[in-house]
Amino acid sequence: MNTSTPVMPVAGSRASAAPISRSRRQVLQWFAAGCGCAACGSAGARLLDFDLVAVEVASKTWAVLGRTEYFSQDNGGNIVNTSFIEVPDGVVVIDTGPSKRYGDALRELIGRTVPGKPILRVYNTHHHPDHFLGNQSFEASVIAAPQKVIENISLEGDGFTDNMYRLLGDWMRGTYSVAPTVVMNTDNEDVGGRQFSLFYLEGHTNSDFVIRDDETGVVFAGDLAFLYRAPTTPHADIPSWKASLEVLSGMDKSLLVPGHGPSDAKDESLVQTADYIDWLYGSISDSVGKGLTMNEAMVLPIPARFEGLGVIRTEYERSVVHLYPALEDVLYPVVEVTR
Ligand SMILES: [Zn+2]
Repeated sequence: MNTSTPVMPVAGSRASAAPISRSRRQVLQWFAAGCGCAACGSAGARLLDFDLVAVEVASKTWAVLGRTEYFSQDNGGNIVNTSFIEVPDGVVVIDTGPSKRYGDALRELIGRTVPGKPILRVYNTHHHPDHFLGNQSFEASVIAAPQKVIENISLEGDGFTDNMYRLLGDWMRGTYSVAPTVVMNTDNEDVGGRQFSLFYLEGHTNSDFVIRDDETGVVFAGDLAFLYRAPTTPHADIPSWKASLEVLSGMDKSLLVPGHGPSDAKDESLVQTADYIDWLYGSISDSVGKGLTMNEAMVLPIPARFEGLGVIRTEYERSVVHLYPALEDVLYPVVEVTR
């Protein structure tokens, strides 16, 4: 992996002739370490079918669990958790997956699982592409998120889409970025006869939206929580993330659905995520303090307790790229010298 290699926008199935703006460059950083997948570019003639499965994790509450991997032609981008809930008058959906193809498959799965009920609300937990690029499969008028998430999607959505085409090729066919139209800013919402509590947190990104179904006590934590999959940090603020994990720990709940990994009844995802980002922050700070280069920091050993996390080495390397420059600024501030 060579992180200094420029990442170019896709010139293919989704044409984009625009020059790379500052905001698009920030988006490209999200992918800066590349896919790391040997299969990329070799979709072949296989049928591109997600074959999504709904797992009932609580009463009339289903999680659609993605693989604990990075994007590849093999998984088609199905690396994320989405969820849906049957409420008295319809269905509520949390996150829509990485593409139109996934969004269509999710809609079809919802229709089979909860036949005849309208989709009344779709929540986007944050602006990372695996969580919202299925939006176009749903009515834009019911898709909701906090203002900052909507702004992030409006600013970075097209750049994310271009790069997802680069990583996933034909899996992305027909996909474009659709921002939510409903701004959420209340502490709760009644949807179709069911009360949801809404929490406006941050740390994984600058706006992480958490939803709790007050009837079942299931919390949908988005990417503030990972379980058995290494957390991602392209837009992370580690101290804020830790504070949000404290809020999630103290939340009254029966079950937590993380953004990646299996559903969690014992807050294991919160403990694991906090442990990892603590170590990550300390390790990278230590490397910066010792004057190591980024390349030297990337090959440092990872503690054995994290070896079971999916894509740990790849995500660690990506995190070095994401976090190193900011920590250098903190630990070695520029000193003005006047002569
Ligand atoms: Zn994310």
